[in-house]
Amino acid sequence: MAVKFADRMENLKASEIRELLKFAADPTIISFAGGLPAPELFPVEEMKKVAVAVLEESGQTALQYTTTEGNVKLREQIAERMNRKFQTKVTLDDILITSGSQQGLDFSGKIFINEGDVVLVESPSYLGALNAFKAYGPKFIEVPTDDNGMIIEELEKILAKTDNVKMIYVIPDFQNPSGKTWSMERRTKFMEVVNKYEIPVIEDNPYGELRFEGEIMPSLKAMDTKDLVVFLGTFSKIFAPGLRIGWVCAPEEMLQKYNFVKQGSDLQSSTIAQMEAAKYCEMYDLDAHVEKIKAVYSKRRDLMMKVMEEEFPEGIKWTYSEGGLFTWVVLPEHINARDLLKKCLEEKVAFVPGGAFYPNGGNENTFRLNYSNATDEMLVEGMKRLARAIKSMM
Ligand code: PMP
Repeated sequence: MAVKFADRMENLKASEIRELLKFAADPTIISFAGGLPAPELFPVEEMKKVAVAVLEESGQTALQYTTTEGNVKLREQIAERMNRKFQTKVTLDDILITSGSQQGLDFSGKIFINEGDVVLVESPSYLGALNAFKAYGPKFIEVPTDDNGMIIEELEKILAKTDNVKMIYVIPDFQNPSGKTWSMERRTKFMEVVNKYEIPVIEDNPYGELRFEGEIMPSLKAMDTKDLVVFLGTFSKIFAPGLRIGWVCAPEEMLQKYNFVKQGSDLQSSTIAQMEAAKYCEMYDLDAHVEKIKAVYSKRRDLMMKVMEEEFPEGIKWTYSEGGLFTWVVLPEHINARDLLKKCLEEKVAFVPGGAFYPNGGNENTFRLNYSNATDEMLVEGMKRLARAIKSMM
């Protein structure tokens, strides 16, 4: 072909898994592959009233350009929420509104990564972040994890022998894909190491509020004494992803960079969407809405866990997720989850094979399951089909 693309496009190729998962769009397939919130919980009726209120009270402003950092009321509400939920001490001036936290991930790559720089990620990590960073040509080093989060001794070992580590990307709360949450001890030790090496940390936290049991842990941002942590938040999982409202909460010097990059990328996030999000928080009770989401998801989590317990054969492990949208399954080493997916697609059930979440490959005996977007009946039926397919491969 005569068209020559930028070299970076070499890093961004369609994966085999994406090809396989195209089949999962078939409506007769029960899919645990996506990460979609339950649409029946979206506050549609409330949002109709919110939209009318915004347009009646300030229609011209809502349809006009706004500032790059975004709507003042919304940023105030976000700061208040972060302080209350994640124990930070931030104000609206620490916050920039983005188009979902995905945009914050892309900007982080743009701001911190030169080609060939090292980015440390949890092993496994969020595929969407890995893909966003890949455009900037980093080398990924995976830091091993266990049930309590990143293994800090391993992190130290890597930092001690690696020069050009430019950033550490982590999801300490109900991680995508593993469903795991870092213990308090890991958080504290992690910040000690980070402070020693003074490396920027991108703390991605879309799921933290969706804790079904126990107390929400303090964010890394709340423990940051050296202005190293960038917190990425989003309304996608506690409200609605279609609004595309996320935010970056960062130390002043860093936030300025995000602001420059935001200007160059899209000037600002949608004025009207920001005003609607702020108006919703004013007219209704977002906390109460989050409680509703948690009640439904925790029930679905329980159902999924119950079928796994009853139907999965010996030798298979999975995460008991205390919140969020996902659980993670580890098969015996000889079973490849991509082969299992092929079999499952015949049985009309789908999931995401885990290998994709490891930037340097391997771990093909793992997969991710989502429990937020299936009715109880579909969940039970889909999990039974999955169990049958696994048994046939054991
Ligand atoms: N980070 C993580 C860990 C995610 O799972 C997701 C969505 N699946 C995002 C970021 C992006 O979410 P959004 O852009 O909708 O805020």
